[in-house]
Amino acid sequence: MRIVLLGPPGSGKGTHGKRLGEDLKAPIVATGDILRQAIQEGTALGKSAQEHVKSGRLVPDEVVLGLIETRLGRPDAARGFILDGFPRTVAQAEGLKGLLGDGNGGGLDRVVNLVVPMEVVVNRLRERWLCSQCGAIYNVSTAPPKVAGICDRCGGALQQRTDDEPETVRRRLEVYLRETAPLVAYYERDSVLRNVDASGPAEEVFEAIQRAIGKS
Ligand code: ADP
Repeated sequence: MRIVLLGPPGSGKGTHGKRLGEDLKAPIVATGDILRQAIQEGTALGKSAQEHVKSGRLVPDEVVLGLIETRLGRPDAARGFILDGFPRTVAQAEGLKGLLGDGNGGGLDRVVNLVVPMEVVVNRLRERWLCSQCGAIYNVSTAPPKVAGICDRCGGALQQRTDDEPETVRRRLEVYLRETAPLVAYYERDSVLRNVDASGPAEEVFEAIQRAIGKS
C-alpha cells in the first residue's frame, strides 16, 4: 500500500507510522528524520536544510522532492511505503503525483489525516523526548520511560528536539496551518482521505488508523 500520514507536528505521525511500517512490512519514509540525519552527518543536503529545520520553517520544495524521488526509487519502496511528513505543501503533493503517475488518488491508496486539537499538540511537543540512538518516542506524562532519561528499548540517552522549544513550535504550527492544512481538501477531492481522531490513547488511535486503511 501507498500511504500518506497527514497531520500537525505532534499528531503522532512518527509513533503510528513506525508501527504501521512494521505491520505492513513497508518502509516508512519520514522526511524530518532524513533531514535531521543529513544535518547530523553534515552532507550537502544537511547543509542546505539546516537553517530551515532549526527555525521551524519548511525546507524548499525542490530539495525535499529530490530526496523523495531518490528514496522512493529504492527497491524496498517498489511494493508500497508510508510517507510521514511529506507532502507538506500543495506543490509537493503535485510533485508526488508526477512521480507516482496519474492513477486514482494520485497513485496513493490512502491519506490518513490525524486530527488533534492545537492545544493538545503543543503539550505533546513540550513533553516529547526521543532516543538519540534508536529514535523511540516518549512523552514524560503519557508514555514515560521506565528510567528517566534512558531508552527502555536500547538504553540510549533520551533528548529533546531542538525545534521543540516553544517559539519554534509556534512557528511550525503556523507553517502547518498555512502550507499543509490545505492538503486535507486537496486529498478529499481525490477520495483517498480518511480523518482519524488522534487525540486519544495511542492504542485506540492505532486501531482507528488500521480501520481507515482497511486492515482490521
Ligand atoms: P514535525 O512533523 O513534528 O514538525 P518533522 O520531523 O516531520 O516534524 O519535520 C521537522 C522539520 O523538517 C520541519 O519543521 C521542516 O523544517 C523539515 N521538513 C520535514 N519534512 C518536510 C517537507 N516535506 N517539506 C519541507 N520541510 C520539511
